[in-house]
Amino acid sequence: MVTSLYLMPTGRCNCVCSYCYFPVGAKKENPELFMRVAESFTEHIISSNPIARPQIRFTGGEPWLEKDLLPAVTDHFLSRVPNGWVVINTNGTILPQNKLKDFKGEKRLIHVISLDGPELLHDSRRRMKNGSGSFRKVIKGIRMLQDLNLPLYLNAVLDKDSSAHLPELIRFISGELGLKELSVSLLHLDKNPMSHDEKYDLLENAYSVATDHSIRLGGHHRLLLGRWIPELRCAAGITTALVDPAGMVHACQRFVGRVKPDCSWSEDFDWMNFNSKQSCGPVCDSQSDHHVGKKLYELYKRKYPEYLHQHHLDLNLFGVLS
Ligand code: SF4
Ligand code: SF4
Repeated sequence: MVTSLYLMPTGRCNCVCSYCYFPVGAKKENPELFMRVAESFTEHIISSNPIARPQIRFTGGEPWLEKDLLPAVTDHFLSRVPNGWVVINTNGTILPQNKLKDFKGEKRLIHVISLDGPELLHDSRRRMKNGSGSFRKVIKGIRMLQDLNLPLYLNAVLDKDSSAHLPELIRFISGELGLKELSVSLLHLDKNPMSHDEKYDLLENAYSVATDHSIRLGGHHRLLLGRWIPELRCAAGITTALVDPAGMVHACQRFVGRVKPDCSWSEDFDWMNFNSKQSCGPVCDSQSDHHVGKKLYELYKRKYPEYLHQHHLDLNLFGVLS
């Protein structure tokens, strides 16, 4: 049964990050369709009353470019589903204060914001379309959310460069922003991907730095441990469905543009029995991923046993866990 709906209402973005893999398209948005998908999902959740926490997650492109749709869906879903939550993955540069103030103090509206490092590092890779850096806009957005008492998490993309600046980033988010948790994602490149040893070394360093500063780590790499820690097994395509800007249904956001979709979303979409036929081979579940997962599991057993179980951070960051 689908309990986690991912909405990708636009392929557009106001940023041009150096490593963006999203197939940015100029397709015309269809907010009415996305509102209808959200309404249908809400009806399904109310009638099925699942044990798993029901949720709607926005992703993109930059979802806040749809500045009317997001509040409308959030209000519709949260007002009807008391145990539901809405998570917005965003670059954090265009958060609309005038819309968000209506949700002040709403703990069930969560933002996950990209911040790769201190200003110079972040701006070297995450730029606005006009070429300027996005760091200061992101920090302004974070502080605005904090003033509105809305929860947020930060995600840093890890490669060799950002890893070298991780201690500085962690000191900044802990000292200046008062955060105690951080998500890290390994940089994914379709061409010339990192070796499994490189990936593992980056993660090992991240855990060491985070532990030194009493920061809890989470992130997509946790799903690599699903073979060894069943609570972290990815259930994409069974408990999740994603609707892309063209209205096509996928198991996972990382499949968009890479793997053929399952179907086109329609009014008779079967939320109860959806079971994606998409295979994640091109994106995840490789031998390299297994190798990293196994080494990480051994690292946890040796040094960080507190990471051997599912944590609320895992659930907040990912809708593919049950
Ligand atoms: S903010 Fe996201 S979608 Fe936009 S360019 Fe950067 S990585 Fe791509
Ligand atoms: S299906 Fe998606 S969320 Fe799950 S492990 Fe693969 S890429 Fe990650």
